[in-house]
Amino acid sequence: EVILNNVKSMKGKIFQSDLEQAVRFTLFHEVAQFAKIDGRRLTALQQFIAVLVRYFPFGSDGKKFLNDVQDFVMNAGEEIDGHKFLEKLQEFKANRKVFSSNRWVGCASNKPGLRRFPCSLWTLFHFLTVQAAEKEISNDPLEILQAMHGYVRHFFGCTDCSQHFQQMAVKNRIWNVTSKDDAVLWLWSSHNEVNKRLSKDATEDPDFPKIQFPSREMCPACRRKILTNHHNHHQYPIEDENSGNVEWNLVEILSYLKSMYAATNVSRFGVN
Ligand code: FAD
Repeated sequence: EVILNNVKSMKGKIFQSDLEQAVRFTLFHEVAQFAKIDGRRLTALQQFIAVLVRYFPFGSDGKKFLNDVQDFVMNAGEEIDGHKFLEKLQEFKANRKVFSSNRWVGCASNKPGLRRFPCSLWTLFHFLTVQAAEKEISNDPLEILQAMHGYVRHFFGCTDCSQHFQQMAVKNRIWNVTSKDDAVLWLWSSHNEVNKRLSKDATEDPDFPKIQFPSREMCPACRRKILTNHHNHHQYPIEDENSGNVEWNLVEILSYLKSMYAATNVSRFGVN
């Protein structure tokens, strides 16, 4: 309760706790439960670990942990056994302070079954797209989206979500993204599509309504009035809100996302 009330007043922050919970849940639960990880699924795991190694905001023990995990998945040969993977995770975690939190903060809910892991998975990938765009580590515009696509396809336990996401990826031409900034915007726009589809359905926590993000309140400059009646081709659809002729201002959106998902905006509120 205390956490929830605080978090509701901290809109636009992201939390170390949620990012760590996403990593913990993906590796220790979703990946580890596969009896056999091979072929494309193994490639997806390698790509997912690689982006975590590059951009995840762990402390020094957490970085050593990820490096060990990466060595293991890169050198494991043609297939990995999930039990063995879990044993290795435990071994690499032993005697290190890898995780600083084991609770949800920005993704907390007081209702069972809502928010939590899926919320933290979105948060993680938005964070990674922004980190990749802000750093010079790689020039591959698809680095993060490809890792996300592979993760969601081969490991995400919500199979409906996974299928929807893959269909949307084709429809929204994920493989045509040509810059790291466009990758940030691709994920923002696609997440909004999911928000629109799920708005008011049973998965919505009334404390955290599914909105076209960011809200007007969070970023007034992100929406602008359409001034002309020309039939412009809009790369991102005009919002379906009752406010009339409004469109997204992509320059402002990008700058909003880059400040929200900046490494310096990761709050340690709620860590142990
Ligand atoms: P979430 O939608 O999880 O968002 C988490 C946080 O991200 C928000 O609190 C907000 O701070 C921020 N945010 C919201 N929108 C944006 C945006 N556009 N850009 C940047 N940041 C944003 N559930 C289903 O029932 N059916 C599905 O088909 C489905 N598909 C999914 C596909 C994927 C890849 C994922 C990760 C999840 C999917 N889910 C699906 C789960 C669903 O999208 C939500 O994650 C879940 O319902 C929890 O919602 P939430 O209110 O915590 O916010």
